Amino acid sequence: MPTSIPVQAVCPYCGNRIMTVTTYTPGLLTWLLCSGLFVFGCFLGCCLIPFCIRSTMDVTHSCPMCHHQIYYFHRLGL
Ligand SMILES: [Zn+2]
Repeated sequence: MPTSIPVQAVCPYCGNRIMTVTTYTPGLLTWLLCSGLFVFGCFLGCCLIPFCIRSTMDVTHSCPMCHHQIYYFHRLGL
């Protein structure tokens, strides 16, 4: 289930029905956008914008009960 928002799931580690906790981390797409903007001469700090945009970030889903990472959502994962 590739999504960046918290989802209801059964944790495979502790067996509880939980809403996943999402953590945003800069992923491959974030770096690509950053370097792409940099290459196109956007040097007034604009190349850092992708780091502020959650929609470009990879998302880690983890369990709030046992804190195991359940799955990882890659923006460029196909
Ligand atoms: Zn768990």
